[in-house]
Amino acid sequence: MEDYLRNELVKCMKILHDRGLVSGIGGNASVRLNKNEILITPTGVFKADLKAEDIVKIDINGNVIEGCLKPSIELPLHLSIYKSRSDVNAIIHAHNPYTIGIISAGKKIEPINYEAWKIFKDVPIVEFKPPGSKELADLVAKNIKSKSVVIMKNHGVIAVGSNLKEALYIIEALEEISIMIFVASCLGKITTIPEEYLR
Ligand SMILES: [Zn+2]
Repeated sequence: MEDYLRNELVKCMKILHDRGLVSGIGGNASVRLNKNEILITPTGVFKADLKAEDIVKIDINGNVIEGCLKPSIELPLHLSIYKSRSDVNAIIHAHNPYTIGIISAGKKIEPINYEAWKIFKDVPIVEFKPPGSKELADLVAKNIKSKSVVIMKNHGVIAVGSNLKEALYIIEALEEISIMIFVASCLGKITTIPEEYLR
């Protein structure tokens, strides 16, 4: 199981990098290995070149159990979510450029398609706090509640799931919707799902 999850984390970071959702050393991901142990991507490593042995094993309090590299600087954020959400087994942090661009411009994630309405209609958006800080970890854990994603202003997004693919889908769907919103706003006015279906 552990080998499988290490490889899934490697694959996940490659997908994020290939899709332009993280650049170089940006972004991070983790999975819950069991009640007390978590696997997380290391900090400072080029994410498209990650190897299974680069993944760091830590305990729920953040102590390194196994690994030569330093865990992601967003480790406090991952831990605070795992501690407050027993349903979460995977967390991904990416820098979705269209999503962050749209939010930075003061626009909303409008119901441009079904997923935008169903999954992202009340997506929590939190104010900027320094990456890696306890303030950011507390703010995200407080806002994620039962949601699958939080947008962090001027930074990126955090998605959670019962497994990595579920969290990856949230990251990808949010960016896909943000691109649709961006294109629609560039070409004219956004047409959303008709009001009668939104009720
Ligand atoms: Zn980041």
